[in-house]
Amino acid sequence: MARRKKIYEGKAKILYEGPEPGTLVQYFKDDATAFNAEKHDVIDGKGVLNNRLSEFFMTGLNNIGVPTHFIRRLNMREQLVRACEIIPLEVVVRNFAAGSMSRRLGIDEGTPLPRPIVEYYFKDDKLGDPLVTEEHIAAFGWASQQDLDDMVSLALRVNDFLSGVMMAVGIRLVDFKIEIGRVYDGDFQRLIVADEISPDSCRLWDLQTGQRLDKDVFRRDLGDLSDAYTEVARRLGVMPKNAATATKPHLIN
Ligand code: UDP
Repeated sequence: MARRKKIYEGKAKILYEGPEPGTLVQYFKDDATAFNAEKHDVIDGKGVLNNRLSEFFMTGLNNIGVPTHFIRRLNMREQLVRACEIIPLEVVVRNFAAGSMSRRLGIDEGTPLPRPIVEYYFKDDKLGDPLVTEEHIAAFGWASQQDLDDMVSLALRVNDFLSGVMMAVGIRLVDFKIEIGRVYDGDFQRLIVADEISPDSCRLWDLQTGQRLDKDVFRRDLGDLSDAYTEVARRLGVMPKNAATATKPHLIN
């Protein structure tokens, strides 16, 4: 058994060198963290569900012409993705007030926003991912003005797509976070949606009952996280046959 070269290990995923140049293997772990990793647990099968759900959303986006890093799923916990240079920003789109926006601005959770609001957070665990403005981003060179325009356009297209897909299965997309990467085609660079799209990075509320079907179940101790994610997967028709059958990390056939 050969060991694959590990490129990076984050809180919920591991990146390994891919089989061809310009590719990576993204492995989904069962770890759940919140509050900058102060709260941590291992949720059996979460990685399997997020691998499937991210595949589902990214494939849908690719199919409507929104470029993503997703190439194909390899197995229960791994997917082949295009390597890219991650822009060090978390791009959040909000349709309803919740979470940090509700805390910061004193707006009740669930209040509809007059239009989708795009926010940027600087990716730095030591600083707790602070909210930043376009001025900071341009001044510190994290992204150019053209990148910012492209990022907003990508983020809003993802928002429209995800909102529609979720609404069709009785789920309200309250907000979500994406990460965006640069890829180079010859002299040209373009931006693609990277990382993952899953209930770890979205707020999903049942349309009828308001029941939380996302990581807030873990953050706020509202019940069983795996049940919530399984419900999202079930409604979308992407329920894996056996969520418990997991492949081991960093082993190659
Ligand atoms: N989010 C995320 N990763 C983070 C921070 C936020 O995926 O490190 C997602 C979160 O799940 C929610 C949205 O981004 O869907 C907005 O999160 P918010 O700023 O309200 O943060 P929180 O309430 O989690 O502190």
